[in-house]
Amino acid sequence: MTLSAPETLIYSSLFIGGDWVKPSTDRVITPIDASTEQPLGSVPDAAEADVDSAVAAARAAFDAPNGWSGWEPVRRAEVMLRLADAIDARAEKFVARVSAQNGMPVAVARQLEIGYPSAVLRYYAGLAEDLTLTETREGLFGGPIDVRRVPVGVVAAIVPWNFPQALSMFKIAPAMAAGCTVVIKPSPETVLDAYLFAEAVEAAGVPAGVINIVPGGREVGAYLVAHRGVDKVAFTGSTEAGRTIAETCGRLLRPVTLELGGKSAAIVLDDADLDLARIGEGLFGSTLLNNGQTCFLGTRVLAPRSRYDEVVDAFTALAGSLTVGAAADPTTQIGPMATAKQRERVETYIARGRSEGARITVGGGRPAHLDRGWFVEPTVFADVDNSAVVAREEIFGPVLSLIAYDDLDDAVRIANDSDFGLGGTVWTGDPERGAALAHRVHTGTIGVNRYIPDPAAPFGGVKASGLGRELGPEGLAGYLQFQTIYR
Ligand code: NAD
Repeated sequence: MTLSAPETLIYSSLFIGGDWVKPSTDRVITPIDASTEQPLGSVPDAAEADVDSAVAAARAAFDAPNGWSGWEPVRRAEVMLRLADAIDARAEKFVARVSAQNGMPVAVARQLEIGYPSAVLRYYAGLAEDLTLTETREGLFGGPIDVRRVPVGVVAAIVPWNFPQALSMFKIAPAMAAGCTVVIKPSPETVLDAYLFAEAVEAAGVPAGVINIVPGGREVGAYLVAHRGVDKVAFTGSTEAGRTIAETCGRLLRPVTLELGGKSAAIVLDDADLDLARIGEGLFGSTLLNNGQTCFLGTRVLAPRSRYDEVVDAFTALAGSLTVGAAADPTTQIGPMATAKQRERVETYIARGRSEGARITVGGGRPAHLDRGWFVEPTVFADVDNSAVVAREEIFGPVLSLIAYDDLDDAVRIANDSDFGLGGTVWTGDPERGAALAHRVHTGTIGVNRYIPDPAAPFGGVKASGLGRELGPEGLAGYLQFQTIYR
């Protein structure tokens, strides 16, 4: 069954302060279907005055006497659970909108853009229920001391297009649990799902101003980051934008979480099972998921020299076996790139890999059977040196670079010889050996024979992959600060 294309969706209002309000300009954003190159609808392109309104609404909801920040956490949890239900009730619409806009195969969207975000919300509702707001301890110099956990305030949440709902929820859920209010700026490529989310927020009866949405591009994002009414910034996106945002937040001494790019290593050990019937799904999910447009993917595959040819054959067979097609087709494993610009970027890197002397074993072009949509064939480069551009820079497409190593020390050296440190995997017949090797890799997260960011554990990167962590109780801590009262 192929999902029918979503209806043309025209929104003319902004969701601010719990209401649908008229935007300050008549400029619009027109998201395009990545598989068909057809417009999908339009939403207002928020301007600075709209950001002012959204921040003011979030501020008012936060500051009001008996407002959201002062609610008992269990009461906030009730609202969060209702919101999770309202999201689930719209599941198939979320799938259709996300997939159409960014080219994510519906099979992937069903796994990660529905179900997963509401699971994150329910997880943080559970943490809210258990949240101790005040702990009283005895001071070293006498007297009781109250240590209060208080929400940081108004949060600016800026998200990319690749997993728009999941990555929004990484911020919204802990913010809501903590008692913060949020202004979300979705990426202009993925705004229609943000409107569906607004409808869920409204249907769930989330108090006015707790969630506000300002669709727009980077200028509006930059304006929001620097807004005087914002207390914390939570950003997921490119390292380049992250650096700019960090500079602004540094100047303002504003707390910021940055989840940025990656170029992670998938380290295949000499005892690894390379039978694709057994490990193909796991390898696919950790190296090529979402058309290669996933930040944590192990796009540098490190293979022992003794088994290099076997590893090349396995990845060549894996990439060559994938069904490339329209995102809405449930049999599709690799959909199009999210934008024409993104495809151009991926193709530029493929050309660069060729000119640097790497050997293409599969792919390298556009699929012949698709004449519409921003498709690129899954591509494997063999004989790549870790100093090559295709091994150093984030391509953000279905392109893998296979690098040979001599021994485990060499594998660790190559894995760590990167500007990034976000994800990674170790493939081995001996999970204990894999975990021991994982300890030596300088990265925020790593999997042994599997990889999936679990809501219960911190996710984030080191080096140019970012600052701070999302998910887990550690993610909640980023939305709370302490107030100490000496009594
Ligand atoms: P991008 O940085 O261009 O844009 C991300 C978001 O930030 C968009 O909403 C954009 O409008 C906004 N933005 C851009 N510049 C800004 C600025 N100066 N100030 C404020 N807002 C700004 O990234 P993208 O192309 O949309 O997404 C792809 C990137 O995101 C990749 O590098 C990928 O690795 C990264 N990513 C990281 C994670 C993670 O968790 N580490 C997850 C997904 C994607």
